[in-house]
Parts: sequence; structure tokens; C-alpha cells
Amino acid sequence: MARGATMRAAFYEGARRFRTGTASVPAPGPGEALLRVRRVGICGTDLHIFQGHLDHRVPRGGVIGHEALAEVAEAPAGSGFTAGDRVVVEPLWFCGACRACRMGGSYLCYNLKVLGVDLPGGMREYWPVPVGRLLKVPAVLGDDHAALIEPLSVATHDVRRARVGTGDAVVVFGGGPIGALIAMVARQKGARVVVAEVNPFRLDMLATLGLQTVGPDQDLVGFVNDWTGGDGADVAFEVTGNPKAVRAMTEVVRVWGTVSIVAIHSEPMPVNLYQMFARELSMHGSRLYAREDWEEAIRLAASGAITLGPLVSRTIPLEALQEGMEQALGGGPVMKLLVDLTA
Ligand SMILES: [Zn+2]
Ligand SMILES: [Zn+2]
Repeated sequence: MARGATMRAAFYEGARRFRTGTASVPAPGPGEALLRVRRVGICGTDLHIFQGHLDHRVPRGGVIGHEALAEVAEAPAGSGFTAGDRVVVEPLWFCGACRACRMGGSYLCYNLKVLGVDLPGGMREYWPVPVGRLLKVPAVLGDDHAALIEPLSVATHDVRRARVGTGDAVVVFGGGPIGALIAMVARQKGARVVVAEVNPFRLDMLATLGLQTVGPDQDLVGFVNDWTGGDGADVAFEVTGNPKAVRAMTEVVRVWGTVSIVAIHSEPMPVNLYQMFARELSMHGSRLYAREDWEEAIRLAASGAITLGPLVSRTIPLEALQEGMEQALGGGPVMKLLVDLTA
């Protein structure tokens, strides 16, 4: 890559404003590969950024984007990567020295920084990334599908942490991209799964994926009771952030069952702790992912065990980022939006 060349990039200009312009192609630092970005997914975190909720973390003029599929343009000799490799990016910086890092939980580092939030991300044609944060993608996975490896890694992490196994009954509150992926990963583990969702487009999509659903007109607690012969589900995942789901989540789980909190709750919410006590439930949080979750996500996606195609609602060029954010924020008939940096 010739130094001094320019590239297209999208810049965060404050609440509800993205601007696509140009910048110099960055030079990779020591231990970094220079990536040519091909796809970047837009997720709920990006929508929070768009609304100005994360202005304490994302600088004005910052570049967001943490769900990337890219091609290596340049890599340091001996790094194991060479020009042309297709890679996904584990978008985390951690200190390696704090209690979380020392315990093996570097994705929960007390000093964690997320690439595309706290540090510059991938909404640009060229992105320098430490080689330690790259994973190769098998050729069998197309660009659009490979761009979903990041959210799929969230799902493999959530399912692993909740120890979902063969024959388990699993309730997923929320059928957006993460909820749908959790449901498919749990099903692949041999669980039977039901997804509670209110959006009619998403209910249709979940049915297309062969998933059982409970809609807004149905009594979920009654449904799960019948579905499990009165026992309750083995595991419930809370992926909505909605108070009604939080109220119901401890009421659908069996004795010694598990409640997993996946949604980002920025406000305290009432929980039925009587059920927590009476059935001796376990509740835990589930955030981000470890390296093994990425490896499993790549394996599952490459084997075709998880259906990814229908989750991509639309692919947009970088110039349409502003409009794409507005559309995604408006809800309606949208699952995942991808930015195509090659368009
Ligand atoms: Zn995301
Ligand atoms: Zn740390």
C-alpha cells in the first residue's frame, strides 16, 4: 500500500450524524496488519452510538464498526498472516495484567477497550489491527455470512456459559439477530427452543429458520408450562432489555434452572426474586466472547449448521451509513444491516 494514499471512511460527528469522507490510509504499527475492510455489520451498540448514548466513549470524528470481515493487505513477516487472507476481527483491547485478565477473562478486562467504540473501528477501507486479534475465515464462507461471525460468537459464548445440552428446553426472550443466533446454536446443541418476540417481521423470519415462536398475543408463562409438562424450561436467555421479559424470565424456568442476562440493561429493573428463591435458580450475565467462542462460531458457520443468510436484511454502501442507521433505528422489517466497503 503506497503511503499517502487516501481512502473512504465514515466519521461520527455527534448524535444522529455520520459523514462519509476521505482520510489518509493509516500505516500499521508494530505487530499490526493493515486490513482492507470488506463488510461491517451494524448492531444495537452502533445504534446507541448513533443516538449519542456513548458520547463518553466515542470521540467526535471517530470511526466506529466492530463486526468486520476483511482481507489482509499487509501483515508483519512471521505473523502467520499474508496478503489476501480473509479474516474476522475480535475487536477487543485488554491490559493483560488486571484481575480479569489474570483469571483468563480478558474479554472482561477492567481496562477493556472495544475497537469500533473506544478505539477506531472498521467503517473505512483500510484498518490497522494487531495480528493477535485476527482469525482466518474458511473460503467456504461468503463475505456476507462471515460478517456475522462476531454476533455468532456472542451466541456461542452465551450458550456455552449457560451449559445448554441435549434435550434441554430453552426459552429465548427476543428474536433479533442475537436472539435468533442463540436459538440456532442451542438447537444445534440438541436443545428444543422457543423464541418470544413481538415484531411480526421477526416472527416470520424465526419461523423461516424453523424456530418455534410465541407472539405478543400469547401467554408465554402458560405456554412454557404446557410445553414442559409443568416443569419449566432448563434455561432462559433475556435478550430484549424489556421490563416485561425481565418480569417473566424467572417464572419460566424449572427448579435449579438458569437465567442468562444477555441484553444490555442500562437501568435497574424489577425481577421476581420469589421464583429465584423458591426454585433455587441461578442467574448470570453473559457478555462478549472468549477466543474459543470465536473458533466455535467459525466452525458452526463453515459447516452450515447455522443458517445465516436470512439474517442479512440489506447491504448498503458506506455512503448510506446515515440512512441505514436511521432505518435500523426505526425498527420494522430489519434484522441485520451490513455495510459493503467494496461497493
Ligand atoms: Zn455488535
Ligand atoms: Zn485486564
